[in-house]
Amino acid sequence: MKRVYNFSAGPSVLPVEVLETARDEILNWHGSGMSVMEMSHRSKWFEEIISKAEEDLRDLMDIPSNYKVLFLQGGASTQFAMVPMNLMRKGKADFVNTGAWSKKAISEARKYGKVNIVASSEEAKFTYIPDLDPETFSADADYFYITTNNTIYGTRFTKLPETGNVPLVADMSSNILSEVYDVTRFGLIFAGAQKNMGPAGVTVVIIREDLINDTHLEVPTLLQYKVHAENRSLYNTPPCYNIYICGLVFEWLKKLGGVPAMQKINEEKARILYDFLDNSSMFKGTVAKKDRSLMNVPFVTGDKELDARFIKEAEEKGFVNLKGHRSVGGMRASIYNAMPVEGVKALVEFMKEFELGNK
Ligand SMILES: *Cc1c(COP(=O)(O)O)cnc(C)c1O
Repeated sequence: MKRVYNFSAGPSVLPVEVLETARDEILNWHGSGMSVMEMSHRSKWFEEIISKAEEDLRDLMDIPSNYKVLFLQGGASTQFAMVPMNLMRKGKADFVNTGAWSKKAISEARKYGKVNIVASSEEAKFTYIPDLDPETFSADADYFYITTNNTIYGTRFTKLPETGNVPLVADMSSNILSEVYDVTRFGLIFAGAQKNMGPAGVTVVIIREDLINDTHLEVPTLLQYKVHAENRSLYNTPPCYNIYICGLVFEWLKKLGGVPAMQKINEEKARILYDFLDNSSMFKGTVAKKDRSLMNVPFVTGDKELDARFIKEAEEKGFVNLKGHRSVGGMRASIYNAMPVEGVKALVEFMKEFELGNK
């Protein structure tokens, strides 16, 4: 059986060990005589699966007991609306505009209150993370919103803003569990699973308890954090199978040594690729060095035809999904947690060969 090196930005590569366990357990989970897909979400078996997944995520991220962990549906995009629906109480929020996902979050938030754009890198096509001046932050904001890693452009915040008493809200979809974060710095973290945790269809929300409040009556029941928190993500049928796979990914990550060990590996992978880009006469990275993402690495040759040939030849060699986002062009290698170091090394070897052969 041939597996490719999959550099997809999402849904993306999963650890082989996780897929093998899922395969082995698909007909009969732990002697239950059935697949996790066939189980009642109220069964003792699923209770065990969701509790273990939550416990392992809490361990991995060192989530304090005054934070709730929710497993929701609707993708990260639903959080763009759910955050303001639940947190916009006084009616104002600060945002840093660092890319397409921030922009979508901003446009949803504008439906529920006043949005103050503290800083933006849009004028430079989001190729850097803007410097932040706390003087420009709104002291009376309900929350302060950032996208920790910008999947499309390949930038990340290397320093979190100092927001004082204003809760920091983060879209961590494409870098959750890839590097160590101090959860206590945040009021709310959310992440769609399909980049670094599991299959598309479940979204993790980590929310500080004091931010879980009654919402306006018109907020749909399923869009209230309070309802999900009070029902431990089991108000209605959760995405059971996806939660199970995320749980296997969490176990895999714990065995590997947790997030600090994963971060080291991710830094090593990123270093191999960026070092090559910095020394190549054909390939160039596209963003400010200081803000480079550990997860998504966009690069170009400067020649669209050459880019297209590279992507085609790479695919023939088993390096797939390297085409850049349609808004950036060129190439993008997403090197999430489950991409092994060997995958990045093999890609760099192929890039060297391609460069030599196309001088
Ligand atoms: C992929 C992504 C999203 C969108 O996720 P969906 O699950 O498709 O809604 C939002 N934010 C970031 C940073 C992403 O990478």
